[in-house]
Amino acid sequence: MKQEIRTTNLETSREDTEQQNPPNPLPPAVNWHFWPWCNYGCKFCFATFEDLPSSKKMSKKEALTIPKMLADAGVKKLTFVGGEPTLCPYLGELLEEAKRVGLTTCIVSNGTGLTESFLDEWGHHVDWVGLSIDASNDELHMKIGRGAKRDLTRAKSQHLEVSIEVWNRCVARGIKMKLNTVVCKQNKDDNMMALINTLRPDRWKVFQVLPVKGQNDANIEDMTITDEEYQSWVERHRNQNHLGIKMICEENDVMRGSYAMMDALGRFYSNTSGGHSYGPSVFEVGVDEAWAQNDFIKERFVAREGEYDWSNTRRLPMAVEGVLEGCQ
Ligand code: SF4
Repeated sequence: MKQEIRTTNLETSREDTEQQNPPNPLPPAVNWHFWPWCNYGCKFCFATFEDLPSSKKMSKKEALTIPKMLADAGVKKLTFVGGEPTLCPYLGELLEEAKRVGLTTCIVSNGTGLTESFLDEWGHHVDWVGLSIDASNDELHMKIGRGAKRDLTRAKSQHLEVSIEVWNRCVARGIKMKLNTVVCKQNKDDNMMALINTLRPDRWKVFQVLPVKGQNDANIEDMTITDEEYQSWVERHRNQNHLGIKMICEENDVMRGSYAMMDALGRFYSNTSGGHSYGPSVFEVGVDEAWAQNDFIKERFVAREGEYDWSNTRRLPMAVEGVLEGCQ
């Protein structure tokens, strides 16, 4: 009898400890890949979601419940990712809902949908934009496939041209700017520093191109670089970073398992196994249980500075007609 009591106490004490220090708590920043479709043709794309069952799709009504579910589970910052998020006709309403429940918002975009009219209507709900620019010129973007699919068929990427316009219109509205760059074989000898010094991002994320099984198998062999080639690109840019722009450099090891990612069906997924491993949907089991089944390496999240001061006091509360003129 005594033995049984002791075992029960031990179990109770373990449960108490786990409740106080859950083994794998949901981090405060979640990337929600809610819109899997894209109008671009980047050959290394890590998030094509060709493995997503096309017959299933979250409804708009369901999608609008996700920000609150995440906020209730302790999330502080929600990044809307795709595919291309701006293709979603109700992105603005999702941003509005995310702000309503107290989240910091970020959109990772190729920029094509961040038009004047979209930002006039919804820009006051956007704290951060992460714009993807991989090279100092559009000839390199063309080789990477970074451009609108329709332009790539005409052998011309206009990505840099479009991105600079988008950048200026976001900055004019006080949106904080993150620049995302993927280093691969095609751009490994490029020098982006002149462009970076002009744009002056709040954060510059530099990724080593990442093979992801089931997402980018078709082209990745012609795009991967060695760790040494990646480090050489990073050091070259670091040495010329005289303005002290914040660089966050993520080689392949750091990119695996370090993001809390949710797909368009509300399933957390991990890339630690080399491909995407999807768990159950939050609609089936709730956020806590769905997260408990996800593979996540907190040390890597910390190593890549996944949590930082992401507050934005610059953002304009509302777009006022005429005020933005002349800020382009
Ligand atoms: S813009 Fe982003 S989501 Fe679209 S193809 Fe390029 S990397 Fe993939």
